[in-house]
Amino acid sequence: MPTQIKAVGTTEARKPLEVMDIARRDLQPDDVQFQVLYCGICHSDLHQVHNDFGGSSFPMVPGHEIVGRVTAVGSDVKSFKVGDLAAVGCIVDSCGHCPACRHDLEQFCEGEGGTTLSFNTPDKYMGGMTYGGFSQTYVCKEQYTLHVPESLDLAAAAPLLCAGITVYSPLKHWGAGAGKTVGIVGIGGLGHVAIKIAKAMGAHVVVFTTSASKVEDAKRLGAHEAVLSSDPEQMKAFASKIDIIIDTVSATHEVNAYLNLLAIDGSLVLVGLPAEPLEVGAFNVVKGRRSFSGSNIGGIAETQEMLDFCAEHDIVADIELIKADQINEAFERLEKNDVRYRFVIDMSTLA
Ligand code: NAP
Ligand code: ZN
Repeated sequence: MPTQIKAVGTTEARKPLEVMDIARRDLQPDDVQFQVLYCGICHSDLHQVHNDFGGSSFPMVPGHEIVGRVTAVGSDVKSFKVGDLAAVGCIVDSCGHCPACRHDLEQFCEGEGGTTLSFNTPDKYMGGMTYGGFSQTYVCKEQYTLHVPESLDLAAAAPLLCAGITVYSPLKHWGAGAGKTVGIVGIGGLGHVAIKIAKAMGAHVVVFTTSASKVEDAKRLGAHEAVLSSDPEQMKAFASKIDIIIDTVSATHEVNAYLNLLAIDGSLVLVGLPAEPLEVGAFNVVKGRRSFSGSNIGGIAETQEMLDFCAEHDIVADIELIKADQINEAFERLEKNDVRYRFVIDMSTLA
């Protein structure tokens, strides 16, 4: 019998979220079931609830930065036992045998149905769509369930499951490290974790923010230099100086201003998901053989590697811990760019 649990979701785009009853599947032999302790609120949750990309399906329970404690394991599960910490990010299933999956890039699964996400993609077991981590429990295949190092603060570690891997993966892929200058554009949930990870990788980190109040705070977060992007003089000082830019901005913005900051062979990597197309001027990329590219979360093995890296370097998010009945207020504040720097829900408050 599927288990009935409480969750927080919505039945329509842009409607306030409310407590609802959902069902979790029966434990399969390869499943891990856990009580959700904490779940982060990512701007992608907001995009999906707003149906910004057009593909949202309702009812919807968001949440894909999920940390919890194991309450049951299926008969084939080897690496988790009851009482262990467990975490789930964006990916909960994929075909497992296409070229992308074989190269640990489950986020780009090309098999039938593609990647199953933790919420708002077709649910192979229950029908309908998957329901995310704004809920009391979660059930996930062992293979897609992550181990959380015990040394990390659990609430502050939750955002690593999406924000962390989304910036770790491109920083690693594009070679951030000693001798490289990394620019981080947008200091929100993703951006503030990117500062910490890029610094731990050994790069020189320069932050670009539209918020005057974040300029000083960026240094506290570990940035070596911070630029108010609305000031052309400050921007000019970095022309052709940055090797890798991680652009986390959630709304339409002028990317050409950032392409001009790239050194020869530099790359601007888009991870933010503005709903409208961005315009790129030809001369901003042909000059300096620059690349305009993108990146999407990261595979399961890389997500585990990122969690272990963060434990080793003592990296977690700066969070505002909220109760379940504050989710709507948090969504409103996230929309207004008023969060330092990630909301995390204490799921024990969902009674
Ligand atoms: P967030 O906390 O809201 O941060 C976004 C930041 O962008 C803001 O803090 C702000 O930084 C800047 N910003 C917002 N509006 C802006 C505007 N109109 N013009 C210029 N800058 C603006 O969001 P998040 O959770 O970090 O997510 C960021 C984006 O990444 C979202 O679009 C999300 O959907 C996407 N995302 C993508 C992936 C992926 O795999 N590719 C994964 C997760 C999230 P400043 O105040 O510093 O300017
Ligand atoms: Zn996310």
